[in-house]
Amino acid sequence: MIRLIVIVIIVYFAYRGFRSWLRQLGSDRTGAAESSPEIDDEMVQDPYCQTYVPKRDGLRTRVGGEVLYFCSETCRDRYIDESTARK
Ligand SMILES: [Zn+2]
Repeated sequence: MIRLIVIVIIVYFAYRGFRSWLRQLGSDRTGAAESSPEIDDEMVQDPYCQTYVPKRDGLRTRVGGEVLYFCSETCRDRYIDESTARK
């Protein structure tokens, strides 16, 4: 009878340990999704000089409803000048 109680207690703690282990795995996965470092390092192309710049360093500009990223203010100004001159 005592042996049965010991087995039940062992199974109970094993089950609890397994549950907390699963919860830890789940929280690890959501933590990685929240930080998402791959979006931070995304490369975007400067439409004027065709240079690739990291999205976080690019000069974010909205041109005609489209969001573009430039490597410098010079490229941005020239691109806007040319695109408005064409119209
Ligand atoms: Zn540029």
